[in-house]
Amino acid sequence: MIRFSAPPSEKAYRLVLPIVALALGACQDQVEVHNERAFVMGTLVEISATGVGAEPFREAAGAAFLEMRSLHDALTPLDGESELVRFNARGHGRWVALEGPLTELVPRALSVQRASDNAFNPHLGRLVALWGFREPPFPGRPPPEKAIRGLLEAGASQPALALRREGSLEGRLEHPGATLDLGGIAKGFAVDRAVAALREHGVDNALVNAGGDMRALGRRGERPWRIGIRHPRREHHVIATVELRNGEAMVTSGDYERFFRAEGKRFHHLLDPTTGRPARRAQQASVLGPRATESDAWSTALFSKGSQGLEALGPGLPGLVIDTSGKAHASPTMRRRLHWRSEEILAP
Ligand code: AMP
Ligand code: MG
Repeated sequence: MIRFSAPPSEKAYRLVLPIVALALGACQDQVEVHNERAFVMGTLVEISATGVGAEPFREAAGAAFLEMRSLHDALTPLDGESELVRFNARGHGRWVALEGPLTELVPRALSVQRASDNAFNPHLGRLVALWGFREPPFPGRPPPEKAIRGLLEAGASQPALALRREGSLEGRLEHPGATLDLGGIAKGFAVDRAVAALREHGVDNALVNAGGDMRALGRRGERPWRIGIRHPRREHHVIATVELRNGEAMVTSGDYERFFRAEGKRFHHLLDPTTGRPARRAQQASVLGPRATESDAWSTALFSKGSQGLEALGPGLPGLVIDTSGKAHASPTMRRRLHWRSEEILAP
């Protein structure tokens, strides 16, 4: 997910570091691995690389972070100047040109929305704001029933965004309850753009890790980049590892990323569009694939659908779901890629 927030405090760094440590790069072999870190899109982003000099790597990583920052500025719902907020302010009931990265990202978001049967819904903005998950501190109790129902009646979670090409690409929001919110796809898109920037700067072997949204380029010396999938309830515990092939991405959505507890329950930021409430079929969902953008959107969709959503992914997007009882479910293609480590979670 994407977290839009103020510049990091030291505490924020400490919170994010353990997740980043799940990129299992630093083993005791002879390969020289360069690392650069920056706080971007509300999360600590780490770029590691091999087979490149220290100085060219620093420059390449700087270009990648710059690209991610500019995407954050365009896609944040919290800044009145962002392209996303400008569209939301004008796009209800009339055609408005999509600007900047929205022209590429919105059509890709809509195709996952269609393919996932609306489990990924890129215009839940008003519901996300109602639940208070845009930025911490989170509210500590769910919104009134009536407010949720009101937004659902105003079309908050129905497919609501139409596109047309009139010279430029234009969009129109068809329901007053819907506003664009690309939080479920933007970080993956930023990871892909970061990888492209690294390539342009001559870096062929790298791992980008944006708080758990990862994509690999090339290899880590003699072997592939190896990453860990975390335990949904034990932050530092790796339940399985996967070796990423050249260009592959792995993205995870979890109910522990943004949540509060009330009435004895966990209320988190991953909404089920059919209910307008936090989805109740999973603790965690991960999707492997050729691009972080689509893996990101699908990990959100898979979280919402739970294990029954694995089939919708197809063989090209291996998926893993940890259900609410802590049991793992994996698609056949994912099963072949997992090196299972956990004794607590039943292997799929
Ligand atoms: P992620 O952690 O990538 O799965 O994204 C979570 C973010 O996506 C939330 O903070 C919301 O902004 C947004 N979101 C929540 N539920 C959905 C959904 N069902 N479809 C698309 N975006 C969602
Ligand atoms: Mg996502």
